Parts: sequence; C-alpha cells; structure tokens
Amino acid sequence: MLINNFVLEQYDSYILPTYGREELVFISGQGSYLTEVDGDKYLDLYPGWGSACLGHCHKYVIQQINDQARELIHVPNNFYHPWQSELAEQLAMQGFGGLSFFCNSGAEANEAAIKLARRYGSPKGRYEIITFDKSFHGRTLATITATGQEKYQKGFEPLPAGFIHVPFGNFAAVEKAVSDKTCAIMLEFIQGEGGVNVAPDSFFKQIETLCRKKDILFIADEVQTSIGRTGSFYGFQTFGVEPDIVTLAKALGGGFPIGAMMAKPRLKDVLTAGSHASTFGGNPLACRAALAVLTVFQQEKILDNVKEQESYVRGLLNALQTSTNIIKEIRGRGLMIGIEFSVPVARLKQLCKERHVLINTIGDTIVRLLPALNIDHKDMQHGINVLGQAIKQLAKEQ
Ligand SMILES: *Cc1c(COP(=O)(O)O)cnc(C)c1O
Repeated sequence: MLINNFVLEQYDSYILPTYGREELVFISGQGSYLTEVDGDKYLDLYPGWGSACLGHCHKYVIQQINDQARELIHVPNNFYHPWQSELAEQLAMQGFGGLSFFCNSGAEANEAAIKLARRYGSPKGRYEIITFDKSFHGRTLATITATGQEKYQKGFEPLPAGFIHVPFGNFAAVEKAVSDKTCAIMLEFIQGEGGVNVAPDSFFKQIETLCRKKDILFIADEVQTSIGRTGSFYGFQTFGVEPDIVTLAKALGGGFPIGAMMAKPRLKDVLTAGSHASTFGGNPLACRAALAVLTVFQQEKILDNVKEQESYVRGLLNALQTSTNIIKEIRGRGLMIGIEFSVPVARLKQLCKERHVLINTIGDTIVRLLPALNIDHKDMQHGINVLGQAIKQLAKEQ
C-alpha cells in the first residue's frame, strides 16, 4: 500500500489532472485479470476500454512485439517496410476492400477521415459534415467538434466550422440537415461513450442510400465497434451496409497504440502525397502487433466466443431485468453491452469493485460491458455473477 500512496502522490505532483482516476495501481495483467502492486487481482470487464480485445498480454501478441522490437521499431513513411502493407491487405480482406492510412489513435483516424472528406468535397465547395447527438469521435479540436456532446467542447471555442449535429436514429432530421454544402455523414453504429445508444437497423441503410444518391461520403467511426466487438469483424457487417470510409483504433493493436483510416478504392487519390502524414503512423512495431491480433482472431475463432458469451450474458441480464425492477433497458450488440438503470450506478460500481470486478459506467445510470473478446466462459460467469449480486443488492436498497 505504501508504494500505491507514493504513486498517487507522484501523479498529484507531476501529472496534469485531466482524468478522474480510481485509486488502483496496476503493475501486470493476464487475460481478463489485472494485478495490483500487492498482488490483488481484479477481473476487468472493460480491458483498455475495449482495446485489449484479447485480454491483457496475450502470449502470441507479446512474442510478435518482442521479435519486432529486436528487428526494427520504426522507419518513417518516406520508406517502405513489409508489415504496413501486409496489415493493410489483411484489413481489406476482412470485407472492406479499401486502402489504409495508418496513425496512432482513434482521434487521429477520424481527423484523417474528416480531412479526406473535406478534400473530396472541396472542388464542389462542399465542407459540411453531419454527425449525431451523443456521438463521440475523439479529443482533437476537429473531433470534439464532430462529437455531439457539449461537455467536450466547452471552453475550447472557437471550434472549427462546418459540423452539424442531428438526433441519432432520426433519418428525417438527417435529410433536413443535408445541403449542397454537405460532404460527409459520420456515425458510430453503436454510440459507445455516449451511452451504448442504438438506432433502428433501417437507419443505416437509409443513410447509405442517401449518401449514394447525393455523392456524400458515408464515414463509419468504428474505433469501438470493429475487430469483432459487435459479433462481426467490422460493425458495418453487423448492420448490413457499406461505408465509404471506416476508422479503426482501440482493439486494432490489442492494446498497442495504432489507428487506421480506410477508404474505398475510388477515393484512392483524394489525399495526395504530402497532404496528410503521421511520424509514427504504421510503424513496423505497431503493424506487427495488429497483425498478431488478426492471426489470433482467426486461430482462436474469436467471433464464435463473442456470440457464445453474448447469449450467455444477455440471458442472465434479461432474467435480472425481470427479477429486479431497476433495469430500464439492455442495449448493444455482441460484447458491447449497455445496461441502463432507473437508479444511479455509482454504488453498483463500488459493490463490484469490493468484490474485485471492474465495470465501466457512463453518466449516472449506464453500465457498459466491453469484456475481452476471448474471455473464458468461467471468467465471464464469475463477472456476471458478481454484477448480478450487486444489482440485486442495489435493488434491495431502493
Ligand atoms: C475511443 C473512441 C475514439 C477516440 O479514440 P482515441 O484513441 O482515444 O483518440 C473515437 N471514436 C470512438 C467511437 C471511440 O470509441
């Protein structure tokens, strides 16, 4: 505990306080478990906010990262190396069929998508991008502006011009917002940070049709919904549409920082040489980590596990919704599950933490589950049992 206090004090003295943190100091992780300095283990039901899609420290990913670190960590993008193109080909072959630009995070991937859309629209004087209320697209100036939540924008004005927000799932509002200045519509298939919000499936098809008809780019921010999270490799496969641009980050490197903006072949020449760049983007180490994730994804049949665990978790949650009366709604797809309560969930989170299970909460009343996609059934059972007991206790206390 002494060392914990030391670390907390160091943070207080030397780290800018941009985060609300829980007082847990982790030094190692394995699978779905994190370990504190004193050896206490916690079951993590949202490893890396969904980044650690194969849990913490997957053996094969570690081995590939180690091998690559010894060979070559970084060559900038004025040269070639084999891992970047291999990764781009594999991502295309998962069902998108496009070309990639690599960067280091979700915000950067979205920033690249925004820049591509602006360039695409520029000859026709089009620059407006329609996004949605309660969306989340990152923390750079352009992406907080794309984000449909005022709390992320407050005090950072003036914001870049050209972003219009409309209610998620309301197609009439989208049609009304479209003008001869619109160059793109950008959305998450399931709004993650905004509360695991869903729209009717028909909504995405309507957007796709509208975009085709008006030559507007359909940008899917799949930073959270891709790499198997919703039950298909890409979220657009779950929702049966084909965006023009897809952005990836979080789970792509299994926890190692890497982002990607992928665009359909017809957009290949919009961002010409020199128009966009990233020093670290697509470096050998990050690409090798992502390639390792894709290999494990196939070998361990991750999608089968996502489906199995999803139906198990949903079964138990549905039963809890009936037996307690504090669950308003259970939302999401695959292993991206939101539970909205009719009461505050801070106490629920605390009860789980006391039993060494970590859950993520959004706002006052929403719990978001983003377990590792390869989570063991035994671990999932344990996590949901603890959550279930905590829900029952919370219901009793009302
Ligand atoms: C997390 C997230 C981002 C931002 O990603 P960073 O890597 O934190 O920049 C953008 N969009 C969505 C949908 C996200 O979930």
